[in-house]
Amino acid sequence: MKYKVYTIVFASLVTSCGVKHNVTTKSDPTDENSVEAHAVTKPENEQKPNNPLIPSSDTTKKSVAIIKPQPQFEPVTKPQTSKKIVKTDAEWKAILTPAEYQILRQKGTERAFTGKFDKHYKEGTYTCKGCGTPLFDSTTKYDSGCGWPAFFKAKENTIAETIDRSYGMIRTEITCKKCDGHLGHIFDDGPNPTGVRYCVNSASMGFIPADKDKQAKPVQKK
Ligand SMILES: [Zn+2]
Repeated sequence: MKYKVYTIVFASLVTSCGVKHNVTTKSDPTDENSVEAHAVTKPENEQKPNNPLIPSSDTTKKSVAIIKPQPQFEPVTKPQTSKKIVKTDAEWKAILTPAEYQILRQKGTERAFTGKFDKHYKEGTYTCKGCGTPLFDSTTKYDSGCGWPAFFKAKENTIAETIDRSYGMIRTEITCKKCDGHLGHIFDDGPNPTGVRYCVNSASMGFIPADKDKQAKPVQKK
């Protein structure tokens, strides 16, 4: 009997202790933790106006309010340069002559002094035969005597340059940036002001005379 009584008394003490403890931590606002929290925050607020490095609670709230409506600025410039013209070999064969296909798509070279634009000096714009992109202005064409049309300057951002190690030579191949069509090569023996010579196959190019140039659109789907 004695043991049972002790057990019951002990159990009730433990239970009551546990209940009391839970009640004090959860609901009593004057326990040690909450007092400490108040003690820490109060001095901070009092120091803020004197210390310029610590922002006051008012300014923190304002900055959050400003951040929320920030608009997202998405650049709209990407699609203009990244759109490439991609066609199958069959599609290229359908729109190009055999000679144009062999040069533009298979990196061929027309025989020297045989191209229709070698001695061609009319005013206008030379375009890519594959996609119609304007590549050279007639004012940059000159007679290099090499047997192919030569230009000392290309229109900006229209031509890609790649090292070409074929035929035991190291040359720089030039291709149309838009359709990857082979145009020819670029050499550093050109005249002033650039000192470079764009040596281009006639078959790789089309030509828009100056009077029609203003009406023509940059890219013709044909
Ligand atoms: Zn092209």
